[in-house]
Amino acid sequence: MNYARMSVSHVEVRDKVPGALDSSRSEDPLPAASITDPAIAKILPGELLRPAETWPSKILWQHVIVLSAVHLISLLAFIPWFFTWSGLIVAILGHFIFGMLGITIGYHRLLTHRGFTCPKWLEYTFATMGMFNLQDSPARWVAIHRIHHRHSDQQGDTHSPLVSFFWGHVGWVLLRHKDTNRTIRYARFVPDLLRDPYYRRLERKSGWFVVFIIHAIVIVTIGAIVGYFAGGVTEAIHYAASWAVWGVAVRTVFVLHGTWSVNSLAHLYGYRNYETRDQSTNNWLVALIAHGEGWHNNHHADPRSAAHGHRWWEFDMSWWVIRILEGIGLARNVVRPSRS
Ligand SMILES: [Zn+2]
Ligand SMILES: [Zn+2]
Repeated sequence: MNYARMSVSHVEVRDKVPGALDSSRSEDPLPAASITDPAIAKILPGELLRPAETWPSKILWQHVIVLSAVHLISLLAFIPWFFTWSGLIVAILGHFIFGMLGITIGYHRLLTHRGFTCPKWLEYTFATMGMFNLQDSPARWVAIHRIHHRHSDQQGDTHSPLVSFFWGHVGWVLLRHKDTNRTIRYARFVPDLLRDPYYRRLERKSGWFVVFIIHAIVIVTIGAIVGYFAGGVTEAIHYAASWAVWGVAVRTVFVLHGTWSVNSLAHLYGYRNYETRDQSTNNWLVALIAHGEGWHNNHHADPRSAAHGHRWWEFDMSWWVIRILEGIGLARNVVRPSRS
């Protein structure tokens, strides 16, 4: 992080950047498309100031501790004893099922942008799987992301890598942001979600984190049962440990960095199909690890579209899943690209 810039006073900081003064005051909960505005000069990496709402700096220690813990546990994967083939398979399946259905399709394309509609039971299933990835409650995730679209790569952006790569990737998670710190502050960005008692309940007493812990316990317990039938009590302990490290920690860390890479790498490196006012890019590596989310310049140009790949080579796995859901009648009102 650029500490030299942090010493600039609040008012001075806010006055310097167009649009920063009324940051996030709009009533419209859904982000608009980033249309080209030649009046906004291109900001170079390292030039942007951190959001005014993150001043004065206050570290969210609960985030630091939990994220450090899951990273440390995932490092146990380097010790061979923790490896089992079944643990690896659980990790890969979890990446596709919880990462893609939970975050990419659920939190992002469905809840944030309303790129399609589906039966409530399926929406809740996607939202619940989203919480298995340690990426916050549905309402807070959506609020942060809607603010990102509203102020992309301007000072009001919750996580622009133009502040610094570290800030855009993970730094923003670790510092308090006054507008996203409490449900009552970010409620205006997510009135649609908070009208729903299920999403409201998850806001109370870190309900979403309890869901994450329960899902981890369930995975470890199933691992113990599989191990027990494979080789008695010794293997039960072995499998439980393996599934905890691989099936929970490694997978969670991998999905976390996939999502964070959309915010960092896909606003810095790659090509652009559209001259959006932000600096979003299409990045094939991010598209690969984050189930199509790496076609991020396309997404900023056309946020409501449920398809992020706009060219034939831009493979978007999440879009194919949504098409299958549409084909079997589970997804409706699917928004297709308006610009390609
Ligand atoms: Zn973006
Ligand atoms: Zn988005």
